[in-house]
Amino acid sequence: MQITTGTLAETLNIEDLRANIDSAQTPALIMLTAHVTSDTSVLKDEWRPNLRTLPSSGLSPEADAAARELCLSLLEPFLPQQHTWAETLDDSVRIAISNWLMGAVNEDALTLSKVAFTSNTGDPRAPQWTLDDIAPGSELTATVIGTGFSGLMAALRLKQAGVPFTIIEKNTGVGGTWWENTYPSCRTDVRSHIYTYSFRQLNWETHFGRQDRIHDYLHDFAADNGLLEHVAFGVEVTKAVFNEDTQTWSLETKDLNGNVATHETSIVISAVGQLNRPSIPNLPGLDSFTGPKVHSALWDHELDFTGKKVAVIGTGASALQFAPEVAKVASKVTIFQRSAPWLRKTPVLRQEVPAGERWMMDHLNQYRAFYRFSIFLPRLIGNLPAATVDPDYPPTERAVSAANDALRQELTEYLVEQAGDREDLREQIIPNYPPAAKRIICDDGTWVSTLKRENVQLVSHAVQKIDETGVWAGDEHFDADIILFGTGFKAADFLLPMKVEGLNGQDLHEKWGIDASAYLGTALPGFPNFFCMYGPNTNTVIHGNLVFFLECQANYILSAIKTLAETGSKSMNLRDDVFDAYDKLIVSESAKRTWGWSKTHSWYMNAEGRSTIMWPLPAIEYYRRTAQVDPAEYELS
Ligand code: NAP
Repeated sequence: MQITTGTLAETLNIEDLRANIDSAQTPALIMLTAHVTSDTSVLKDEWRPNLRTLPSSGLSPEADAAARELCLSLLEPFLPQQHTWAETLDDSVRIAISNWLMGAVNEDALTLSKVAFTSNTGDPRAPQWTLDDIAPGSELTATVIGTGFSGLMAALRLKQAGVPFTIIEKNTGVGGTWWENTYPSCRTDVRSHIYTYSFRQLNWETHFGRQDRIHDYLHDFAADNGLLEHVAFGVEVTKAVFNEDTQTWSLETKDLNGNVATHETSIVISAVGQLNRPSIPNLPGLDSFTGPKVHSALWDHELDFTGKKVAVIGTGASALQFAPEVAKVASKVTIFQRSAPWLRKTPVLRQEVPAGERWMMDHLNQYRAFYRFSIFLPRLIGNLPAATVDPDYPPTERAVSAANDALRQELTEYLVEQAGDREDLREQIIPNYPPAAKRIICDDGTWVSTLKRENVQLVSHAVQKIDETGVWAGDEHFDADIILFGTGFKAADFLLPMKVEGLNGQDLHEKWGIDASAYLGTALPGFPNFFCMYGPNTNTVIHGNLVFFLECQANYILSAIKTLAETGSKSMNLRDDVFDAYDKLIVSESAKRTWGWSKTHSWYMNAEGRSTIMWPLPAIEYYRRTAQVDPAEYELS
């Protein structure tokens, strides 16, 4: 079955709905019924879902059946006109369903619910202005660097606002990380239905999208929105220099043939990603190894692992996806683990969405929107308290608070269950750092069952060195024909290797050193009209959603461009004091979170122990702060 956008029939026959109703997730169905009928009595306390099992209710089969039956009977009179159902939520219904879903009155959820419910036919956060309306004859132009999730998002908003723009992409296709990472079993570990732009939802075939499908999604998004014709493919921006006379940027570019060119633009939107410069540890003897050495993001599809001895270095999100595939055919796989990952039980990780449920999404108007809402709103609220340090607890590398300890116990139970009678394995797979100090990886049992295979060995020692024939760890030599690096990315090296020169020739990387920081992850003083998408401190651990953050960033950047247009300014430069206050806040808030407190290795922290990656506040803070540019925070010229 293909991914579909669905062709909704104007009317729906009750018998057709009844035939498929058992496939419906009751939380989505109940909220849909409340919306369509305006009868919120269907939001019964006893049918409130378990937040941990969403989109499933977590109720007994009997309770689910009773809920479905009532929904069917309440919906029946409305089915013949399902095409007329309102696509926005009435405020009182929105409040009722949000409180019901979250299990309590949650002011943040009520605010976020305004943007968490979206249908495919509307794009409420699209700019409601055009450059031509505000500043006819304006010479403002923009250039987006990168065509991943963030670059395409920014490009769409520019197009909607009628801002002339170009996109520069170093690869030969769109997709960014989803173009580059093609290792076996590569997929997202964010549920597909919320790993999409809010206004372009699909009827995904799997709960967690495979790399090829996500790539198709992004390509189709770019094609359908007329973005592809704006892209210069195979061109890399090597240097960006701000010209104070013209208040514009000169971008130096190099194409795949080595041709160098210059491109002038008023506004730069850097959307170059965080996870695209592979990190291969500089291990002693690495060059002496005689076999192939491959990083997960530079996969060699010609490699045949059949009957080979393979060394896998790293046990992060990528290795946990490719190593099980390699182990199916290799004669021996030795996995070198420096620190064990926390795993979250996710049985549907590799499963298809059942056909009946996909039928519901295609045929029952707005079922998909409520399905998405049921997972999206709780995700935006997240569980930051479980990642917050309680100085009185007292925090240790075991747990940093009672809530963090509760999370630890929940995750530990799963690992213990996975290890079964393998006590040796149990000791190896339970991490020695607090949960949420680094990414918690979704797992459906594949990882530990791979570790239990006869041809797999887990070595819990850091790699010491490499020689011609294999890997040394724990003073032992392990033979290998191939070494696979699941060692992640140079995430803290924001914007490198691009050189960026702002006011007075100031070099961005000299200014930053290794401490990349930008106001709201987007702007910084001395670099007028230079904005980042997915910039420093805009990632989330257990308290948000990446695509939501990208939509917020695009919103903020477009608001900045609107400010330029409205004031007739050529450039805007963030005030130093605004940046300094923000930067202090990020540092102090990060120190309160598990990832900022723990001493464990992670790409969330840079070499000096500063958190440059993660947003340390609740997601709603990001939403609020990016809602609109405050012109007073900038010097306009
Ligand atoms: P990663 O999470 O940074 O994991 C790198 C692994 O390599 C860790 O186990 C790390 O050990 C180990 N390592 C690094 N340097 C080492 C060294 N010198 N010696 C021994 N081991 C070393 O990288 P990743 O797995 O590629 O994932 C990066 C991020 O990409 C993920 O966190 C996620 O955000 C994203 N991603 C997502 C998905 C998905 O959605 N499913 C899939 C892949 C990647 P330590 O833990 O001890 O540092």
